[in-house]
Amino acid sequence: AHGRVFNFSAGPAMLPLEVLEQTQRDTLNFNGSGMSVMEMSHRSKAFEGIIKQAEADLRTLLSIPDNYKVLFVQGGASTQFAAIPLNFTQEGDTVDYIVTGAWSKKAYEEAAKFGLNANVVAKGDNKSVPARDSWKLSPDAKYVHYCDNETIGGVEFQGAPDVGDVPLIADMSSNFLSKPVDVSKYAMIYAGAQKNVGPSGVVIAIVREDLLGKARPSCPTMLNYAIAAENGSMYNTPPCWPIYVCGLVFQHLLKLGGLAGARERNVKKAQLLYDTIAGSNGFYFSPVEESVRSKMNVPFTIPSKPELEKAFVAEATAAQLLELKGHRSVGGMRASIYNAMPHEGVEALTKFMTEFQAKNA
Ligand code: PMP
Repeated sequence: AHGRVFNFSAGPAMLPLEVLEQTQRDTLNFNGSGMSVMEMSHRSKAFEGIIKQAEADLRTLLSIPDNYKVLFVQGGASTQFAAIPLNFTQEGDTVDYIVTGAWSKKAYEEAAKFGLNANVVAKGDNKSVPARDSWKLSPDAKYVHYCDNETIGGVEFQGAPDVGDVPLIADMSSNFLSKPVDVSKYAMIYAGAQKNVGPSGVVIAIVREDLLGKARPSCPTMLNYAIAAENGSMYNTPPCWPIYVCGLVFQHLLKLGGLAGARERNVKKAQLLYDTIAGSNGFYFSPVEESVRSKMNVPFTIPSKPELEKAFVAEATAAQLLELKGHRSVGGMRASIYNAMPHEGVEALTKFMTEFQAKNA
């Protein structure tokens, strides 16, 4: 009815139709304020209500303990790669990075610029997570950083890794709010909004309070999480509209059974897609080890006839199944099936896959 397609982009990605329709209703006059959220002072009562409600709803969704701050910050997840060492270390400190793909590698490379003893304590092959007993964790590390879901490789941890007493920091950009998470296991969780929870332009950071206030003197003000916390994420002008849309997505998720509901829907969608790959007699191939396959980003190839991959993407596009081309670094295809991808979208994709195989096998 809206001429909308199934968009399998890795991000920015689909948002719930109901949320988009609400933004449409609010565009000219938000809640009787006579103005759009896009035009609104961040110091206004109306916006204060928006950001407070968004935080409260996020706290409900994730059962965030009281000793954690919720921050809405900027610069994308990529900026946090630098902000994390600047907030939690001094020069010469030791930090540990688990590298399971392109994003955790970037996070490590950024940290390595800051005069640290930065270690890759486990290195995956983009298809698996190295066995826990092979990790060479440093007892004196200020933190261990890892990426809970590697968006490009499609490798997802199935729970918080056990790193003992060392503070654990997770990049959850591409699986944030896709399932329940025990926040108390983490020192910090952060996620760019533009995959599962909203438009680009805002990063959500959940930080345990006792880690704040120890930033390097050289840490730029805008990257200092303690300053963000003291100022209610409004040291400067925040990305008001993205925060408002994230808030609508949080309310939408609460209405649909919270994160347990999200997990149930996501498990079903991923199962359907992986079952289709597994049932293709090898026509389609998932390069990722079964135990760590992502429920959000599903790379796959046509190993016996790679020349067909281009046609696959082109024909899928013609069938309104968009953005299925794999990341330029790995090729093949990738279907990103975040929270807002409806089950019917994955059904349409798997039907297309089966028909494409029948035509080309
Ligand atoms: N981490 C992960 C896991 C990502 O998928 C991405 C974006 N694709 C980033 C970090 C970088 O995010 P941003 O573009 O917001 O800097």
